[in-house]
Amino acid sequence: MRTDRPKDSTREIKFTRNYTKYAQGSVLCEFGDTKVLCTAMVEERVPAFLKGSGQGWVTAEYSMLPSSNRERKQRDISRLKLDARSTEIQRLIGRSLRAAVDMKALGERTIYIDCDVLQADGGTRVTSITGGFVALYDAVRGLMKAGLIRKDPIKNFVAAVSVGIVGDQLLCDLCYEEDSSAMMDMNVVMTDAGEFVELQATAEGRSATRKEMGLLMDLAEGAIRQIISKQKEALGTDE
Ligand code: UDP
Repeated sequence: MRTDRPKDSTREIKFTRNYTKYAQGSVLCEFGDTKVLCTAMVEERVPAFLKGSGQGWVTAEYSMLPSSNRERKQRDISRLKLDARSTEIQRLIGRSLRAAVDMKALGERTIYIDCDVLQADGGTRVTSITGGFVALYDAVRGLMKAGLIRKDPIKNFVAAVSVGIVGDQLLCDLCYEEDSSAMMDMNVVMTDAGEFVELQATAEGRSATRKEMGLLMDLAEGAIRQIISKQKEALGTDE
């Protein structure tokens, strides 16, 4: 039973911009006890398949620091292979953030979004997407200020949240304890136009009805609207 907040509320969400100094965008994004450092760095080249196309690219990497877990998580390099879960998550982050960007307006350059989990307590991928967007926005603003881009490549805001069924309750923004006992959970990525970018829904305890799926989508939509207004507040924009 959730006792610390209403079923449809997120944990406290915070953005600390300019958290580190070298990246063009650097944001510590917190969803409760989940903390992810999201940085955006610009490189003036694109992958081979885009050379000469006039279009840019946005890609992401995701990793958990050893002490982000309850038990020390081995670094990938010491196992000499990339973690399959991290690979899946970083592709989701990349796809989600590309949905925010007009690649022609970005021009032939790549923005790397690096998401490093400092502390994991459920929802690290949605925290990465939500914070990654703020870092991306800062990096793009930097490019515009420097006169490297004229047309704003940000098409819309993007944020994400998890929702799920825990026992007989429909909950928003699951912490680790809730996530690990969830019957089904879903990660939802949306834009500020209220459109869906990606849904990842998995039933492991029991399957969900169409009606429950609708209610979960409503929960997610309401939460994402609030999260996007927090992103705008953190960025000092009411676009
Ligand atoms: N988790 C962990 N170590 C791992 C994988 C997961 O501690 O190697 C915990 C962590 O709290 C994470 C949660 O389990 O946030 C849920 O993991 P999941 O794979 O569902 O992704 P997330 O909810 O973080 O996007």
